[in-house]
Amino acid sequence: MRDLGFKKEISTGYYLDPFSGYQEKKITIESRYDEITGVACRILPYRMRITQKPDMDFYLEKSPESLCPFCPDLFEKTTPRFTPDIVEEGNFKRGEACLFPNAFPYDQNNNVAIFSSRHFVPLNELTPEFMHDGFAVCRDYFHRVVEMNLGYKYCSINWNYMPPAGGGMIHPHLQTIAGYKPTSFMQKLLTSAHNYAAASNGDNLWNNLIALEKKADKRFIANTGVVCWLTSFAPKGMAGEIDFIFREKTSLFDLTESNFNEFLTGLSKVFNYLYVNNFISFNMSFYATMTNNNYFFVQGKIVPRFVIYPLGTSDLNYFEKLHNEIICPTVPEELCRELQPYFNTVA
Ligand SMILES: [Zn+2]
Repeated sequence: MRDLGFKKEISTGYYLDPFSGYQEKKITIESRYDEITGVACRILPYRMRITQKPDMDFYLEKSPESLCPFCPDLFEKTTPRFTPDIVEEGNFKRGEACLFPNAFPYDQNNNVAIFSSRHFVPLNELTPEFMHDGFAVCRDYFHRVVEMNLGYKYCSINWNYMPPAGGGMIHPHLQTIAGYKPTSFMQKLLTSAHNYAAASNGDNLWNNLIALEKKADKRFIANTGVVCWLTSFAPKGMAGEIDFIFREKTSLFDLTESNFNEFLTGLSKVFNYLYVNNFISFNMSFYATMTNNNYFFVQGKIVPRFVIYPLGTSDLNYFEKLHNEIICPTVPEELCRELQPYFNTVA
């Protein structure tokens, strides 16, 4: 089986340590590069822990329900609507969930979906049941787009949960994108999969990634049925990265209701892990093609986000912003071992 292109290099350095009477201290930095994603990162030898759960009142005081455009009082008055050719009712609804156009779009088709009328939902209450209708309205929208035959080929469902992850609203919400072209990161994944197939007599990169990672038994969290859960070899965030891949699902429309429920159950397990470890924030992206593409399995990533107290320092700095390398004081293999028990218990 062709290898995945996971590269590793260890470098060592020395300094005189004031905490041990200026004895010489050796430090080891592991540089990693993932050819599939193009992500370069440096795994630091010390583990970052968030020792205290950030104070939610800080955010809730600044963003009360009375000022929230997604809470019932303002929702009806201030929510953008779709033109009637897309949907007669102006939006896509299921239960309390609702999908509508983003008032500040990033894309010609950038929508927002709220899960419910609840303003603040902590990480441990993001249960599969709670998330179900929010994801369902995203799927309803993509189904409508295909019905309209607009020729869109790529879509994603995205989530900035809470301000440390770029969330502009406390009120939990998803964002969808559908377009003719993939985003640049999704393009990188597609190109890697094409190149891998070309170099290995048509092997599927994602099948081999799953098989090789399972065999290596270092970053393979669990297989929950159709969905495989892994930690990324070279994470896109300081607190690591959790990946999910839907085996043999080569289009969004291959996914059944039960595949989605399995996915949401896994997501809630990851969120529980984050909650227990004092995180309050994450980014998630779910990438899919809208027509069958045998090179690409539906998949996605979750990156926990945080700010560093007491200053509220960002978890992004010059290294990531301007050098395209991620400083990661979280060893992916350790993150995997910590997540496994959450998947092995029945919940
Ligand atoms: Zn609200």
